[in-house]
Amino acid sequence: MSTETYDLLLRGGHVIDPDSGFSGPADIAVAGGAISAVGSQISGTARETVDVRGSYVVPGLVDFHVHVYWGSTVWGLEADKIGAAGGTTSFLDTGSAGAITLPGFRRYVIDPARTTVRALVHICTAGLVTNLGELRDPRYLDVEGTVRAIEANRDIALGVKIRYSDVIVGEGEQARAALLAALEAAERSGTWLMVHIGRTPEPIADVLQLLRPGDVVTHSYTPLAGGVVDDHSLLVSPAAIEARAAGVQFDIGHGKSSFGWATAEAALAAGFAPDFISSDLHRGCVNGPAFDLPSVMTKFLMLGMPIEEIVMRCTSMPARKMGLDAGTLRVGSPADIAVLAIDEEPVSFVDCTGESRVCNRRLSASHTYCSGVRLDPEILGVTEDLPVEISSRPMGSGS
Ligand SMILES: [Zn+2]
Repeated sequence: MSTETYDLLLRGGHVIDPDSGFSGPADIAVAGGAISAVGSQISGTARETVDVRGSYVVPGLVDFHVHVYWGSTVWGLEADKIGAAGGTTSFLDTGSAGAITLPGFRRYVIDPARTTVRALVHICTAGLVTNLGELRDPRYLDVEGTVRAIEANRDIALGVKIRYSDVIVGEGEQARAALLAALEAAERSGTWLMVHIGRTPEPIADVLQLLRPGDVVTHSYTPLAGGVVDDHSLLVSPAAIEARAAGVQFDIGHGKSSFGWATAEAALAAGFAPDFISSDLHRGCVNGPAFDLPSVMTKFLMLGMPIEEIVMRCTSMPARKMGLDAGTLRVGSPADIAVLAIDEEPVSFVDCTGESRVCNRRLSASHTYCSGVRLDPEILGVTEDLPVEISSRPMGSGS
């Protein structure tokens, strides 16, 4: 029997808990895998005490857009490894699996992961196995299968995904039919749809008009044509403002091709902040330009968003949307915690067009805890590489 009061004490950090609205210096104590106290100068002893002065201590990050079906899709990374490297303890995988491949995603990825992984089911029945344009052949559309897959996996399958770009779904009626199929699957399964935009095959206003309250647009700051922010005028689409008022939500999904400094600055200047800040981490952007979720958060710091608002969009907002007991430091909740070191050295970051900006602070994850147990990237090892390079394939559309 341990005589210590706690298993873990994180001392002296700047704690940010968007769920309670707290932001300030505090200690956090963990026992039995749960948060047991948050406050100043917590008394008692712990098996392990970590001095986290000079760092932010936040709920384990909830990345609302990633690809973690390693080994079965060209994009897939390993959830626990990117979790350990990026302070992320919960993930939404957005469409790596389709109806055919969801059972494997569940058995081989979601069940064994120490991090929490949930899925959107791709309306393409094969999901994102290759990047050859998964809906160029409309026979891959699978409303029935998608609905059945969601119904059989309610606990992990939260909704439907479509990548709505001309190089992926084709154009004209073929494209529109795919979007309508995805909406039908979401409607019939009683879930919501995430629509990826950029090189959008029809005017963004026409797409937004179809979306229902609770549906989500990802790649909201894409510099590609057909975005929420017009790539020429840099004006926010009035249809996006209307859609938001009607309950449609907007995600970042940085990725390889979907974040522009100019579009981001224009959107924020117009008051069009995202609901969720996510990385869209996959094999094509994990070595830049996205790197990890703290790097994407760093970009929003540079854009002038207060840290508390950034953390909220990477924790409590997505956790609530996903129905998780996560994204909070409330006493009694699972001790999913990220310690974010603040490096004050100027760092240059590029967007997806190659344009760079100097950020004068950089966030990075120094400690990641899942239910009070540290996810150590050195213990977990590096992600094994796959034989097929994304860049060697003909589809340069990004994700
Ligand atoms: Zn993606």
